Parts: sequence; structure tokens; C-alpha cells
Amino acid sequence: MKFAALLASPAAALVAHKSALPAAPVRAQASSMEMKYRVAVVGGGPSGACAAEICAQEPNIETYIIERKFDNAKPCGGAIPLCMVDEFDLPADIIDRKVRKMKMISPSNREVDIGKTLKEDEYIGMCRREVMDGYLRDRAVEYGAIPINALVTKIDTPADSDSQGRYTIHYSRNDLGRKAPEESLDVDVIIGADGANSRVAKAIDAGEYNFAIAFQERIKIDDEKMAFYDELAEMYVGDDVSPDFYGWVFPKYDHVGVGTGTVINRPGIKMYQDAIRERAGDKIAGGKIIKVEAHPIPEHYRPRRVKNRAMLVGDAAGYVTKCSGEGIYFAAKSGRMAAEAVVKLMKGGTVLPTEEGITAEYIKPYDGLYGPTYTVLDILQKVFYTNNAAREAFVDMCQSEYVQDVTFQSYLYKRLVTPNPVEDIKLLFGTVGSLLRGRAIATPDKPFSNPVESLKRL
Ligand SMILES: Cc1cc2nc3c(=O)[nH]c(=O)nc-3n(C[C@H](O)[C@H](O)[C@H](O)COP(=O)(O)OP(=O)(O)OC[C@H]3O[C@@H](n4cnc5c(N)ncnc54)[C@H](O)[C@@H]3O)c2cc1C
Repeated sequence: MKFAALLASPAAALVAHKSALPAAPVRAQASSMEMKYRVAVVGGGPSGACAAEICAQEPNIETYIIERKFDNAKPCGGAIPLCMVDEFDLPADIIDRKVRKMKMISPSNREVDIGKTLKEDEYIGMCRREVMDGYLRDRAVEYGAIPINALVTKIDTPADSDSQGRYTIHYSRNDLGRKAPEESLDVDVIIGADGANSRVAKAIDAGEYNFAIAFQERIKIDDEKMAFYDELAEMYVGDDVSPDFYGWVFPKYDHVGVGTGTVINRPGIKMYQDAIRERAGDKIAGGKIIKVEAHPIPEHYRPRRVKNRAMLVGDAAGYVTKCSGEGIYFAAKSGRMAAEAVVKLMKGGTVLPTEEGITAEYIKPYDGLYGPTYTVLDILQKVFYTNNAAREAFVDMCQSEYVQDVTFQSYLYKRLVTPNPVEDIKLLFGTVGSLLRGRAIATPDKPFSNPVESLKRL
């Protein structure tokens, strides 16, 4: 049964929930129907839904997915790479728009069009998160995950030495109105997919990460203006729109998302948002702001991502790339990889996984696959987003078809591109040239005073 259908019918929701209530404190033993091990996925975004659907397909594990808001519209640009469509079997109608052109716009408003290297069937998918997340969650439920519409408030963890002890998840149901009593569920394994403000991370003492604050306004512009953004996304760089990130205009379903982000001067976010609106100028003029949203974006992994039988995935773990701020694919992928590791380690629901096993089967393979991507994008951000001269150089370099091709291939398909030594040497010289040209034309960054946050990244 779908989440939405469960919501629409309180009685059905109650039935579903009752089946979710813990019976007597069961000691899980595999193969007996009433005594299965329980895996709870906290959070129903892309990471949680993609984790839950894998666990739910193992009939000897009882899988729960706990989400506070079934119709959550996560503040997000909603851009996903092409490979995600096939890999996660997304239906065509999840993609509202196919972006085939991007404009990079420098601090001095020099525009470079990128996308020339894309093949006809290649695109960046733009989706509405409320639609995509809803679809993925419903699919997990159809596979058998038991949905609980509730806010997780606290998690009691077993002692480190207790290899069999259960976790108790306390939550307040959101489908029963304000007076819903607090309830709890005992489980054996937890997958923390509850985003940047993760309760699971707190419960396992996973430590903090630096985060950017990202701000976005959804703006409805007239049809003529919308036609301009039909297949086009814009990225603006400059210290006016962000001292350490970029501002964007992304085409959404029937409007544009206009936003920016920063780590090192978060109190300035409104000023940067005003600047991105100003830079987009006539292209969005007269538009009606239909939604304003802001949310943290993690800057790096948490110090700890697994403890005992609880693990973090997606934003809760800190899997967003620097430079591009991309996190949806990495959330879905990490959720899937963590769940596959859990299912494998639980051997048909007969044994509990261990921290060592989860580290070996999920954390290490994930880092092996994507560690280099995070490192490269971290370096690029440090080199090219730090001052206007470097930003001018960055946009200049984007003219190179080689740079465009490498960028799109690695973004769209999430695979390392085989280096071309001749082109790499040309690129090296090109970069030096671009940096020198950038220095010559750039206006110096305006100073700002934020002694605490400004030390956080650069
Ligand atoms: C403004 C902005 C623009 C962005 N643009 C892009 C983009 O264009 N492309 C891209 O790839 N990435 C983008 N990102 C990053 C992307 O949104 C995240 O990386 C992605 O959503 C992470 O997915 P997740 O499932 O890990 O977490 P989330 O999507 O945050 O999902 C967490 C879920 O857990 C639920 N939850 C949280 N706490 C609790 C609790 N205590 N109890 C129960 N449920 C709970 C929430 O309701 C939510 O549904 C953007 C981020 C921001 C802020």
C-alpha cells in the first residue's frame, strides 16, 4: 500500500502502524515469522527510501521506514545525474525537465555556454523532490517496508559491549494529531537516513560537520521568460552571490529555483540571495516568489558513520560534494549500499551484523568508489571559489571542450574519466593562462567580517 493511501485512510494507517508496534520484547531468531530481526530506516528521503526498499526485499528481515512528513518537499534544486534514472529505475515522469545547456556566469558577467559535448540523449534531470521522494518511499512500502509517519525524538542505544542488545526508537506519530502519545519501537539495526540534523547521528555520537546554509526561492515567471529556461540552468559565481559557493537559476516544473549558499558567511545569506536575483535581472523580473526555503548542506563526512549496528547514509553521513553541492545521487547510492551490506551480513535474517562487517561491506566500498570524487571537488572549490580572479579563471576554463566533456562524463555517469595526457597538459597551461587573465580583469572581493565562520573552510 502506498504512503499516500495510508495517509488518506487513518484506519488503514492505524492497521499498518499496529503491525509496526513491537510485540513482547522479542529476541530475534531467524526463520520464524514472528521473530524476525528488525531493521529501522529513520528518514524517508532518497537515502532512506533506497535503503528501505533493499531491506524490505529480504523476507526474513522486518523493515520499518520512519518519516516525519510523507509529503515533505525537501528544499533542493532537484538536479539529478542521468545515470540515476536507470540505476534507480526511475519512471520518465519523475523528470520534469531535461537540462541540456548550462551557462556559467563569471563575476564580471562573462557568460560561457556549456553542454556542447552532450549527446542528443544526454541530460541533467530536474525533478520535484516531493514527487521523487514520494515515489521512492511508496516503492519501498510496496516491497514490504512498514511505514511509520512519525518524528523520531530519541534513540536509546545498547551498550557497546552488548552485541545482541536492541535499540529503542522513541517517536511521536504525526498522523494522530497533536495529542498523539509518544510511542517506541525496539529494533536490531538502524540505518540513519534522517538528513543534516540527524537524530541517529546524535544517538551514536557521530560528531559534527561543517555545513553550508543553502537558500532558495521558487519563482514563478511568465511563460515567455520560462521558455528561456526550458532546457537551461545557470550558475553564477562572484563574491556578490557567495564568498565560497555559487548562485543558481534552475528550471523546475513550472517555475525556476533561484538560490545560493555559503559556509563562511552564513549571516550574509539574504544579501547573497538578493544579489543572485539582481544578477539574473530581467530574466526573472516580475516573477512571483511562491516558496522560500533554506536548509543546511553538509561539507564533509561525519567523524563517525557506523557504531555497533547503527549506520549513517546520505546527508546524515555527510555525502554531499563540494563545488557542485550534489547530494541526491550519493544519498540514494549510500542508502542502497548500506542496506545491501546489512542484508548480506544478516545471511537471510539469521545473524546480526557487526560494526566491523558494516565497515568492511558498506563504509570501505563507498569510500573506495566516491572518496576520490569528494577530494577532487574539494580541491576545485578551494582553488576556484576563493576570490573573483579565480572565479573568472574557472569560467574561462569552462570554454574548453575537454573540461566540459570530463565534467559532464563524471557528473552524468559517476565514473572516473580516463585521463588524456595531451589534453591534461594543455589544460594545465590553460589553467595558468586563465588564472593570469582572471587576475587582470577581476575586481577584488569585498571584505566581510565573520571571524568565526570564515575560518571554517578555506
Ligand atoms: C537548497 C538546496 C539545494 C540543493 N540542490 C541539490 C541539487 O540540485 N542536486 C543534488 O543532487 N543535491 C542538491 N542538494 C542536496 C540534497 O538535497 C541532499 O543531499 C539530499 O536531499 C540528501 O538526501 P537524504 O535522503 O540523505 O536526506 P533528506 O533529503 O534530507 O531526507 C531526510 C528525511 O528524513 C526525514 N527526517 C529528518 N529527521 C527526522 C526525524 N527525526 N524523524 C523522522 N523523519 C525525519 C525528513 O523529513 C526527510 O524526509 C541541495 C540541498 C539544498 C539545501
